[in-house]
Amino acid sequence: MFYQSSRSDDLTATSAKSILEGIAPDGGLYSVKDLDGVGFDWKAVLKMDTRSMAVKILSALLPSFSEEEMRAIVEAGYHEKFDTEELTPTVSVGEDTILELFRGPTSAFKDVALSLLPRLMVASGHKCGSTDEILILTATSGDTGKAAMEGFRDVPGTRILVFYPYGSVSQVQELQMTTQEGKNVLACAVKGNFDDAQRGVKNIFGNALIAEELKKNAIRLSSANSINIGRLAPQVVYYFKAYADLIQKGTILLGEKVDFCVPTGNFGDILAGYFAKELGLPVGKLICASNANNVLTDFLSTGRFDSRREFFRTESPSMDILVPSNLERMLFMLCKDAAQVSNMMASLKSDGVYEVPEQIFNRLTDIFWPGCCGDEGTEQSIGEVWKQFGYLMDTHTAVAWNVAQQYKKANPDHAPVVILSTASPYKFPEAVLRAIGESKGKDPFDDMEKLKEVTGTAVPKNLSGLRERPVRHHDVIECKDMADYVVKMALKKAW
Ligand SMILES: *Cc1c(COP(=O)(O)O)cnc(C)c1O
Repeated sequence: MFYQSSRSDDLTATSAKSILEGIAPDGGLYSVKDLDGVGFDWKAVLKMDTRSMAVKILSALLPSFSEEEMRAIVEAGYHEKFDTEELTPTVSVGEDTILELFRGPTSAFKDVALSLLPRLMVASGHKCGSTDEILILTATSGDTGKAAMEGFRDVPGTRILVFYPYGSVSQVQELQMTTQEGKNVLACAVKGNFDDAQRGVKNIFGNALIAEELKKNAIRLSSANSINIGRLAPQVVYYFKAYADLIQKGTILLGEKVDFCVPTGNFGDILAGYFAKELGLPVGKLICASNANNVLTDFLSTGRFDSRREFFRTESPSMDILVPSNLERMLFMLCKDAAQVSNMMASLKSDGVYEVPEQIFNRLTDIFWPGCCGDEGTEQSIGEVWKQFGYLMDTHTAVAWNVAQQYKKANPDHAPVVILSTASPYKFPEAVLRAIGESKGKDPFDDMEKLKEVTGTAVPKNLSGLRERPVRHHDVIECKDMADYVVKMALKKAW
């Protein structure tokens, strides 16, 4: 199975090359037209433990790797990183099932993929005949940076440099990054907003002089953001895991459909659900849950994508996205026509808007059910679920919960619903306290303590220990100095 750019039939790549490069040279995403050729035995994996499932699914989706090689990557990547052997357990809450994806080292679902990506990337480099050191550059608005640092920490052959906007991430997020340990990790604040940091990183990637200078020193730049196929593939696994759990619990019989409700930002998580469906898993509807930035709700209800709208800062910040980049991959899988996707993306770039043909829209309607919920509904859901079931949700999960209830009301003959839970409530303690009718404390650590006392739930160790950890990364720079900083740091042998 070969990947190709979603914008050009000529740009094909092995799975290893797709991972190493991250994005295709024409700006398209490495994609496949369908998964028919994979010949995957979906029933066989349901009896396996989570790691073995991951080995089977990942080596099917990334055929550059043998099962044996993938086994080594999975075992090393997840070794002692998650607080449960299951990695992603399910919990019954009322008549629904919550799939907990936040039990990893940074308490956010991005850990599932970012625990494996560094090793996939190093191995991909070897397969592509490159022995260069891989230097990951990432701009982050908060969560991705930390999860990536933790993932790449002390992985031989890699270093990671994260830029975050000075004064624009939460105190907890900043501490998560500035206290990060590891010989090969670096966090640096940039005097600007997230878009400035992002633009700075993109400019560095596009700078041939820098690439040449680094190449002379056997260093190659790469990116860990969610358009990398190496981040998408590991997320397919937990859909199978959840399905297997429902069989185990007697909620469904083998072959019966399950609906999945996904709190969506960049469309990576939910696209992984579509991959699971294409591999044969009996996925009913994929419920696409958005917050007030409901560009996807509108798109999936009308077929017209329009990013020209007000941007809202919400209580579910990881979903505050107006241009979900992985949507391009979905469109390619439906159109199977790179020229058509290329035209739509050109229209998005020039006018901020595009429209899909009717038959594509009908397919989208078949696969997805869109819904959204604002901050008020988010808090209301957290409060209700806590009161009624004693289960504490974070703000992102609560958006999905709220939309799942809307979906069930509108579709009385729905299948059993699995709601994906993407973060620990302790990552957003102030909003969660307010939602359950408690006042906030004097700082986020106070809030965590209070949340623990009031609810009797446990604070994840990675968060409670933050206050005591020494700050290791102090650098603050001007945006214009980012490129110089990268070169200077890249050439420095020890960080
Ligand atoms: C990144 C993130 C999301 C959105 O996932 P996408 O793959 O971008 O759609 C949802 N919730 C949390 C907590 C996240 O960190």
